Amino acid sequence: MDSLPPSAGADFPGLRSAPHRHLCTDCGVSRMENPKACARACQFIAPDYPAAEARVHGRARDPARPDELHFGPFRAMWRARLTAPRPGAQWSGITTRLAERLLETGAVEAVLTMAPDPADRWRPVPVLVTRAEDLARCRGMRMGYAPLLALLEPARAAGHRRIGVIGIPCQVYALRALEVGLGFERIYVIGTPCSDNTTTENFHRFLDLLDGRPEEITYLEFRADFHVELRYAGGRRREIPFLKLPISRLPPDFFPMTCRSCVDYTNVLADITVGYMGGEGRQWILVRNARGEEILRLLEGEIELSHPRSRGSRAGPVKGFLENTRRAAGGLPLRRMPGWLRPLMGWLMPRLGPRGLEFARARVEMKAVESILHLERAEPARARRMIPAHVRALARPYGLAPHDGP
Ligand SMILES: Cc1cc2nc3c(=O)[nH]c(=O)nc-3n(C[C@H](O)[C@H](O)[C@H](O)COP(=O)(O)OP(=O)(O)OC[C@H]3O[C@@H](n4cnc5c(N)ncnc54)[C@H](O)[C@@H]3O)c2cc1C
Ligand code: SF4
Ligand code: SF4
Repeated sequence: MDSLPPSAGADFPGLRSAPHRHLCTDCGVSRMENPKACARACQFIAPDYPAAEARVHGRARDPARPDELHFGPFRAMWRARLTAPRPGAQWSGITTRLAERLLETGAVEAVLTMAPDPADRWRPVPVLVTRAEDLARCRGMRMGYAPLLALLEPARAAGHRRIGVIGIPCQVYALRALEVGLGFERIYVIGTPCSDNTTTENFHRFLDLLDGRPEEITYLEFRADFHVELRYAGGRRREIPFLKLPISRLPPDFFPMTCRSCVDYTNVLADITVGYMGGEGRQWILVRNARGEEILRLLEGEIELSHPRSRGSRAGPVKGFLENTRRAAGGLPLRRMPGWLRPLMGWLMPRLGPRGLEFARARVEMKAVESILHLERAEPARARRMIPAHVRALARPYGLAPHDGP
């Protein structure tokens, strides 16, 4: 099976072309001076999360802090939003604002992140940004893969000694694996969670199914209240309950094997993770180490922080997800529910389902279950190397034993 996503490996002006790799999200390492570095940098080969977490955060996950099993090491966890949300941001814009502050305060000389392709707003293109005002155009989420880390060598060649990187988990794992030998004095890592990514081409097919005028959609988010939110050019908004999404009309390989089987949802190796899953309509921040604290302090006076809440129970939804994923046998998990019941369930789920931290735990457990089932089914040998013990432990209460397949 070839799991190189079609848009991974695409040409990017000024960057080397990407040699073929099996499971690969084109994080950029294969385009560096030494493409063989993939062997020790790749999340999809033989990741060692306990060692990496100890190296980056100075300690392993603490069993006395149960949420660390789900979310990775953290010093503080917040529900948050910018007092003045930024236009074009995916949520309130904390991620790009943190990077702006790193540049404004001189903590870094450059930031590596993604901008939209001028010809396609949904296609990510890696950029090296040196002026805070240029980060505004990078706001927002794009679906797809682009070789962020291939800009590390140009950044070093340009003389930058301290840099910031905004990355998704598979990029951050590789960055941390290579960090020591890169020759930077300091790297500040701002991570976002990531799940269910796919190629930009596939994503366009999804947009085509959602709306007769897909070119007018400017924003899409899978929200924690079980709705997809769409925004359109001109200001219109639409909310679609998950249960009413046209999932059954997507091809079974809509999500590449990489994103069905990656093992880090919450970006456990970032200095600070900025997402939304535990935020109940606001953002969700995990400050993981001293550098993460330093980064968050840069927003003093412009960010509202409160303690995350937790309601409901995740056990039922995770069990249902496991059964559906097993039944789908490698395809997309479809809910077997009569059409008339879907609107009612769409109304009930945000009210009765897990919310806040319990929603985040549910999603992390679902991801663990999905990765184990897909890898054990498609690549059992790789599953043994790739799935960390803490991910197996999350799936165990649902009866998924080691090396369990569908
Ligand atoms: C494919 C994908 C799936 C995600 N799934 C979840 C999820 O399930 N749960 C959750 O809590 N959060 C998820 N996120 C993160 C979430 O969408 C927001 O980015 C995050 O909450 C930060 O919001 P913000 O307003 O602070 O970001 P903004 O200030 O708008 O900044 C967003 C940053 O993300 C970068 N970015 C956008 N697209 C990509 C991409 N394809 N690859 C790499 N970097 C990119 C931008 O360049 C920008 O720097 C996902 C992100 C992506 C890219
Ligand atoms: S390290 Fe990056 S470029 Fe190399 S195989 Fe893994 S995802 Fe692909
Ligand atoms: S879902 Fe996982 S493998 Fe796919 S892009 Fe996101 S972090 Fe990378």
